[in-house]
Amino acid sequence: MLNFSDSHLEYPCSTRDTKSDKKQFEVVLIDADDTLWENYFYFEKARETFLNFMEKHRFNKEEVNYYLNHFDTKRLEEIGFGSNGFKKAMEFTLNHFYKQTNKEITKTEKELLEKIKNFIYNQPSIPYPGVKETLEYLKRRYKLILLTKGEEEEQLKKVKRSGLSQYFNASIVLNDKTEKHYRDLIVNLKLNPEKTVMIGNSPKSDINPAVKAGMYGILIKREKQWIYEEEELVKSDRIIIIHSFKELKNIL
Ligand SMILES: [Mg+2]
Repeated sequence: MLNFSDSHLEYPCSTRDTKSDKKQFEVVLIDADDTLWENYFYFEKARETFLNFMEKHRFNKEEVNYYLNHFDTKRLEEIGFGSNGFKKAMEFTLNHFYKQTNKEITKTEKELLEKIKNFIYNQPSIPYPGVKETLEYLKRRYKLILLTKGEEEEQLKKVKRSGLSQYFNASIVLNDKTEKHYRDLIVNLKLNPEKTVMIGNSPKSDINPAVKAGMYGILIKREKQWIYEEEELVKSDRIIIIHSFKELKNIL
């Protein structure tokens, strides 16, 4: 069996044959955004467009960014994830700064925010290199379930656009991914947590809550990450860290 016992083991880490040493999982849950395809990049591009607009109107870019982050974190908890939520965060930020200077929000601002929202909504969802081949490999061995959070219509559109839906037995969109969500999933899908592993890029949404619910976790560490998704990994011998989706072939 694959040795999960060295806490937060990072691959590649040893010369031993991990192929003959695999954990017998039945179900593999896989996150979508920034795990199967790039997502963060589009939000950052959107952020930059908004900040540049504000700077052009003589607002301090850093200060605007601070408030945008503030409202963005708030909306993630209250409004949810996705392009609509980000638009709301930009609206709150705009209101905050315009009120201070008695500036009025005009058609120009409204159109800009809509344009930025659509840019995020229509992102191409191109799978990272090696994702298709790896899913093909995993599909032959496990029941694969895509598990993402956000607005259902938006997320399912991305799955469709990516061309990856054929690899999954099911695609599930949740409004958030907390320990309770994972526990509910275990009950609703009749999962054996001992035989289930969650794969994703976020310690906060993918790994920590899944492991706390009794599953295993494989973190795909990304260089750039949303501040919101940052969280220290729980100390557990059920977690493995890798650096690309392709590496899954070596450990599953
Ligand atoms: Mg993700």
